[in-house]
Amino acid sequence: MAQYAGFCKGVKRAIDTAKDIGNEYGKALTLGPIVHNQFVVDYLAQFGVGAIDSIDYLDQVEKNTAIVLRSHGVGKAVYDRLEKEQIQYVDATCPFVKAVHKLAYKAYTENKDVIIVGDPTHPEVIGILGWTDNKGYVLKNADNIKDLPKLNRDIVVVAQTTQTDENWKEITNTLKDLYSNIKVYNTICKATSERQSAAIDLAKEVDLMLVVGSQSSSNTMKLAKVCNNQGATTYQIESVADINKNWFFKNMTVGITAGASTPDWVLKEVIQMTEELLNEVNDLKKIEKGEVLKGTVTKIEDNQVTVDVGYKYEGIIPIGELSSLHIETANDAVKEGEQVEVEVLRINDEKSKMILSKKAVDSKNAWQTLQQKYDDKEILEVTVADVVKGGLVVDIGVRGFIPASHVERHFVEDFSDYKGRNLKVKIIEFDQENNKVILSQKVVLDEELETQKKNVIVNLEPGAIIEGTVQRITDFGAFVDIGGVDGLVHVSELAWYRVDHPSDVVKEGDVVKVKILSLDANNERISLSLKSAQPSPWDEINKKFSEGQIAEGIVKRLVSFGAFIELLPGVEGLVHISEISDKHIGAASDVLEVGQQITVKILDINTDEKRISLSIKQTIEPEPTQDNEIDLQKINETTTYTFGEMIGDKLKDLK
Ligand code: SF4
Repeated sequence: MAQYAGFCKGVKRAIDTAKDIGNEYGKALTLGPIVHNQFVVDYLAQFGVGAIDSIDYLDQVEKNTAIVLRSHGVGKAVYDRLEKEQIQYVDATCPFVKAVHKLAYKAYTENKDVIIVGDPTHPEVIGILGWTDNKGYVLKNADNIKDLPKLNRDIVVVAQTTQTDENWKEITNTLKDLYSNIKVYNTICKATSERQSAAIDLAKEVDLMLVVGSQSSSNTMKLAKVCNNQGATTYQIESVADINKNWFFKNMTVGITAGASTPDWVLKEVIQMTEELLNEVNDLKKIEKGEVLKGTVTKIEDNQVTVDVGYKYEGIIPIGELSSLHIETANDAVKEGEQVEVEVLRINDEKSKMILSKKAVDSKNAWQTLQQKYDDKEILEVTVADVVKGGLVVDIGVRGFIPASHVERHFVEDFSDYKGRNLKVKIIEFDQENNKVILSQKVVLDEELETQKKNVIVNLEPGAIIEGTVQRITDFGAFVDIGGVDGLVHVSELAWYRVDHPSDVVKEGDVVKVKILSLDANNERISLSLKSAQPSPWDEINKKFSEGQIAEGIVKRLVSFGAFIELLPGVEGLVHISEISDKHIGAASDVLEVGQQITVKILDINTDEKRISLSIKQTIEPEPTQDNEIDLQKINETTTYTFGEMIGDKLKDLK
């Protein structure tokens, strides 16, 4: 604490006077705020003391209201008006200020030029100037000297009581060099210079200076300025509410001073709060570079994130330290309120600056867990962060890459809609040294399919009829998907009739019913039959055909011993070469050709062996002979049997 700080005698006297007047009369008005400190103004309001901005508002003042002239003082014209209008007033002008008034007025009345070193807008300076009938000159700094007119008369120089010695000396030394007819009166108040000297001494010894007082208080501002000039980090505060705990760090020293208009109770609160915060930071464990901390995201900006790690000030994660992947904005990596683990990259308590990295912690944790997952061949759930040439990029604490060939089981031409998708993957290559992790979804899909296949196969029974989808057609048959596993329908099992090519019966995508013929779980071979899932034309052959019946058929194949005739799709009968013609023929092809429509007689049906014996020649009318001549006219008139049926056996006898 500075040796001299807080209320000066002049301010204390003015405040006590106003308070007493308020207490005695119940109301009083000051000309302008009593001091430049709202806490004091509020305090006096409790005693009925208010303020008017200017003497120009006097006519609006209630009768019998006492006017208090504050410590800053007023010009002669104000006194004259108060006297003239017989307004009651109490003069609380600081005696030191009054002394300056006297000097200025004397010089003015002695026809001398008066120069006031001070702030031309400050009420005290306006008051002093008023004692020169506003004919004096005000110099705020040495630069203003050049604006002075040519001064030929004797000159008297006075100071605003709260001026700094430094400014005063600079201006008066320059004036003395310029003018010989000059008399200089250092009217800087001792209270002001004492406070400034004490503040300077203190500022030299501490890390941080707190200067307590209103932002509009001239002497407080000057205190802050002289402290700053000593190189101490200086904050001008009005009350405890302005204190920022981030200003404090472990083992620091803090100096406190206060302007002449700062009330004791405000100063005490600041001292108390400062002590508490110093104790707090001194008890805080010091954070070191490289430490890993847990924190909460409190603010997200485009290029950085603020994190509260429970320290006296918050840390910053630059966007480049958020993720191992490229991200556009910090929002892509974290959300406000999210708990994060971070590593301290840099820390500077004096500047309250802590740079953190989430990426570093994520990366370290990730390599450890990834090694374990790789060893255990564990499945990871990841989200596609980016689509790049050659594959997909995912964030697994480190950058993970899924080559295009390892994304799906099938070829994918365009991955542009994969960004944001969730995938199940396995690590197929792990190289921490080279910062390389290669992942595969295809491996997971393959394994899932294998498992699915096994489950499907286990639940299948030979003989069962199930539904499937034609996946692929080859020359030797069709592969049918029966729930994740493909079975083969051999070309011979596609239909009850002879099939030249599988595509004559099915096409890819057809949903078909198939019968399971056999299962080989070990080799995952499943034989299926399409035709066995449908009724066999042989099942009802005896209902459709009978021995001796004449039927129509198509020559399907010619062989050395005869010809196969298709009676129904899937039902063929054999015409032995001896049953083709009643004339001698060398081969079936002598009289028949494939595809030819032909009339046959059914000689024999053997359903067990699925054989039908046919005859062509028995359907042909023989050359009429004497013995065997038949009265066809008569037959046609007496029966409804067909000609073939009628003569079948007789022709047989002619062999
Ligand atoms: S700082 Fe000095 S001149 Fe100003 S009011 Fe206080 S005692 Fe008076």
